[in-house]
Amino acid sequence: MQRIRRGLYLLESALANCYLIEGNHGLTLFDTGQPSAAPELIEEMERNGFSLQDLEAIVLSHAHFDHAGGARGLLEHHRVKVFAHPADIPAVKGRRETPPSLGLRLVRSLLGLCYPYRPLEVVVPIDEGQALRSLPHWQVLRLPGHTPGSIGLFQPAERVLLCGDAVNNRGRRLAVPSDGHCQDPAAARETVRKIGALDLEVLGCGHGPVLLRGAGLKVHDLLSPLT
Ligand SMILES: [Zn+2]
Ligand SMILES: [Zn+2]
Repeated sequence: MQRIRRGLYLLESALANCYLIEGNHGLTLFDTGQPSAAPELIEEMERNGFSLQDLEAIVLSHAHFDHAGGARGLLEHHRVKVFAHPADIPAVKGRRETPPSLGLRLVRSLLGLCYPYRPLEVVVPIDEGQALRSLPHWQVLRLPGHTPGSIGLFQPAERVLLCGDAVNNRGRRLAVPSDGHCQDPAAARETVRKIGALDLEVLGCGHGPVLLRGAGLKVHDLLSPLT
């Protein structure tokens, strides 16, 4: 576990980054890792003095297996509300999307064999402009493109954005997902412009290390080739 800011922690034991946020009433988890991730995430929380029983809500950045997959296993230990954007809820509940390219379809089929997805039955819709009771100081932002219902969590006072797969930092190189990994590449580029317009210091992506300083400038570097 990495402490990013007071009350904000990165859980590192899943395939995708998961973020634990302390709120007024309890903990919120942003993303849940792959379907097998729950035991490791629970163990990592407990090792660092947190309890799953204090979890009040789960927010999913989007429906992909490495972000939404661990939720079902966590709910088997502790029942909480799971929030996602309405456009991704059918996929979170198990409806298969058709990936945009043949290559990606093959990759998804293989991943489906390695990590069988365990769908959720009940998911609460959340959209930009709506507040989460567990996180009064955070805003939900729509970040569509990678998937239609991709969302992020933004904390204006601390200038922190958790952005799921809207931007990734794999290999310490900030990047927009390739067109083949976006259901709507034009919307994905528009989303990067939206992120670039925020006053940002810290950026926590779904993959790769968290940018702890000067994230706004680094996002601006991504924007020039897009224009
Ligand atoms: Zn994704
Ligand atoms: Zn991902």
